[in-house]
Amino acid sequence: MKILLAEGDSGICARLRELLQGWGYEVITVTTEAEAWAVLQSEDCPRLVVLDWMTSGIDGVELCRRVRARSHDSYTYIVLLTARTDSQDVVTGMEAGADDYITKPYDSAELRARLCAGRRILELQEQLVRARETLRDQAARDGLTGLWNRVSILEILDREISRARRERSPVAVVMADLDSFKAINDLCGHLTGDHVLGLAARRMQANIRQYDSVGRYGGEEFLMVLPGCDLEGAMAQAERVRSAIAAEPFAVPEQSRRVTCSFGVAVADGSVRINSHRLVREADAALYRAKRNGRNRVETLSSDLVLAGVSSTRPLQAIANQLWLAAPLS
Ligand code: GH3
Ligand code: MG
Ligand code: MG
Ligand code: MG
Repeated sequence: MKILLAEGDSGICARLRELLQGWGYEVITVTTEAEAWAVLQSEDCPRLVVLDWMTSGIDGVELCRRVRARSHDSYTYIVLLTARTDSQDVVTGMEAGADDYITKPYDSAELRARLCAGRRILELQEQLVRARETLRDQAARDGLTGLWNRVSILEILDREISRARRERSPVAVVMADLDSFKAINDLCGHLTGDHVLGLAARRMQANIRQYDSVGRYGGEEFLMVLPGCDLEGAMAQAERVRSAIAAEPFAVPEQSRRVTCSFGVAVADGSVRINSHRLVREADAALYRAKRNGRNRVETLSSDLVLAGVSSTRPLQAIANQLWLAAPLS
């Protein structure tokens, strides 16, 4: 484990360094406060720190305050090294954010034991952070497919719409729905249906760009968010996913089944004030058109909406309704 040793007295510093190295620490030594602060701000800085309380050049208490004032995910465990024994001094040091202190002349066995305690605390804190990250990830994911869940993908969409507005760039959404999925459940059972959902999700994930996102919107419905994609790009992207799903049958227990998926595409140009609800609704309407037009296809209403001259005075859904009701039934 790395340890930062900030000690103004170069003699003490050298002796301590040797001692710490002997105990297996990777030691970074500094003799001034500025150097100590620079190390503490560096990437991958040591999380175990021994600070001289106050000699020429180093005010350990002040450094403690600065370390505690910053918000950092990983904890820094600080042991103050001090010649002071007055209990008020100790209180001052601990209040400034020190975790422990040891008085000079230090007893090396005691220093070693106190550093061991610090390591234990750091290890526990690391475990907690990892557990929190795992829980956060689990809460954001769909349990069956591992994709983003509905709440997460809608949050991603909101974020991307805001970004698109800021950067005046487009953002596209694709609503996808597996075709005749009820038949898979009816013919093969729900467990096989679940398995197929997982495989379809994997094909979707494998066929989007790195900066695109895909989530499970509902039962066998998926939502993709494609930042920076104009209509043409989004149609091509949806088509890639469509063909990846339809191309190869899915291996399910004791057989293989061909599965297809229909897609509805909607695009927001960064210059218009569109919100996620409208965009999803438009993609949904386009998806219905894909179903009506025979399934296993990609449709959009966006080009029609431009032609129909959508304005703020005509509700989008009304136009969308009109357009897909007018679409020929397959
Ligand atoms: P369409 O082509 O019109 O979309 O037909 P469909 O059969 O896919 O549509 P419908 O909405 O009638 O049926 C959706 C089916 O998806 C019914 C439901 O049981 C199934 N489904 C939804 N969620 C799950 C799930 O988590 N696991 C399984 N096995 N089936 C699911
Ligand atoms: Mg379906
Ligand atoms: Mg349906
Ligand atoms: Mg459905």
